[in-house]
Amino acid sequence: MEIQGKLIMTQAIATQNQSSTATFKNLKCKECGAEYELQASHVCELCFGPLEVKYDYSNLRRTITRESIASGPNSIWRYRQFLPVASENPIDVGTGMTPLVRSQRLARRLGLKNLYIKNDAVNMPTLSFKDRVVSVALTRAKELGFTTVSCASTGNLANSTAAIAAHAGLDCCVFIPADLEAGKIMGSLIYNPTLMAVEGNYDQVNRLCSEVANTHGWGFVNINLRPYYSEGSKTLGFEVAEQLGWKLPDHIVAPLASGSLFTKIYKGFNEFVEVGLVEDKPVRFSGAQAEGCSPIAKAFKEGRDFIQPVKPNTIAKSIAIGNPADGIYATEIAKKTNGNIESVTDAEIIEGMKLLAETEGIFTETAGGTTVAVLKKLVEAGKIDPDETTVVYITGNGLKTQEAVQGYIGEPLTIEAKLDSFERALERSRTLERLEWQQILV
Ligand SMILES: *Cc1c(COP(=O)(O)O)cnc(C)c1O
Ligand SMILES: [Zn+2]
Repeated sequence: MEIQGKLIMTQAIATQNQSSTATFKNLKCKECGAEYELQASHVCELCFGPLEVKYDYSNLRRTITRESIASGPNSIWRYRQFLPVASENPIDVGTGMTPLVRSQRLARRLGLKNLYIKNDAVNMPTLSFKDRVVSVALTRAKELGFTTVSCASTGNLANSTAAIAAHAGLDCCVFIPADLEAGKIMGSLIYNPTLMAVEGNYDQVNRLCSEVANTHGWGFVNINLRPYYSEGSKTLGFEVAEQLGWKLPDHIVAPLASGSLFTKIYKGFNEFVEVGLVEDKPVRFSGAQAEGCSPIAKAFKEGRDFIQPVKPNTIAKSIAIGNPADGIYATEIAKKTNGNIESVTDAEIIEGMKLLAETEGIFTETAGGTTVAVLKKLVEAGKIDPDETTVVYITGNGLKTQEAVQGYIGEPLTIEAKLDSFERALERSRTLERLEWQQILV
């Protein structure tokens, strides 16, 4: 594996590759406003605040149209001008433009009239929304001259990084907590990266990776490349606006791990308003966490302006971040948009997975189960109006977290290859169903 040169070197390359028509201009500290060159760094040297990509949209406002976007690639790269990459040929593995499904049966079950499901359980190539952020991060990593890419992952990010690095011909070393689901581990190994299974939770993995980033000079998509990586999540805002017919929804419900996705959907909506692609209107932002790892929900409910880190203990491993980097920004957005941040138990998460599958035919992972369960909880508490156009974000695929539902779903009826064996089994299952109904009714 090739070791990367010093960061100073990558700065020079960054400046070189920056074409004059690019809209992204610099990195800016979210806390103190200090500005930095477009290098591989994510913390402010003055106040340790997080850095974010800033754009100059003054030209774009005049040139961008709904038609020019709609005639672009059928992937996140139709929004290239809103993403922090300079190259004309970004890594395009068909990520994005996932279905926005108008919900019928789930909506009716919950008593909602205008519910939509943004289905990133079928995002390409690795069946989670992380393919969006990684497509952007690795395109930028190549521009900055990195030849080895890496990440600290709760599972899905390692899958995406390994797959897209393989596609782009980059060396790849990814880090995960050792206790992940089998599907998440295999979902990385198949692409033949170096996979480090760390004995510890995500927050410990992340701390280790920060040290490796400093000593090895690799491109860590969610550490030193984080400002670029996180911008990829804006496409989940852009797509929903475009798919709703160039309109913003009234209310969105999305899962929270680090809080990044949530804050970037917000940024994406605002950028579309800024350049005149959609009309401005209030959008309520509600977030979902698992009770076994809910530091953002707790801070929101207690009205705190700081996050109290927790030790995760939940089946929703992909969103189990005990010390979420963007947690406070997520609480601010939920508060100022009149939204909510709610948490649900592991049992409710399993029910959420089953509910979405049984009503809509979508098999989501534990993170999606969390989001559906929180949606239900918010509706029942009167915190979502039945008439609001509500979009629920399903961010990952259930085939990767099969352990979560094992024992909670039925079993196949094994029969002989004979008609009477089939008929007897069918009769038995119908009787069972009737008994179950009677039990529910009494
Ligand atoms: C990573 C992840 C999230 C949340 O990501 P953040 O941007 O860190 O909040 C949500 N759902 C799934 C399936 C994920 O893998
Ligand atoms: Zn700062």
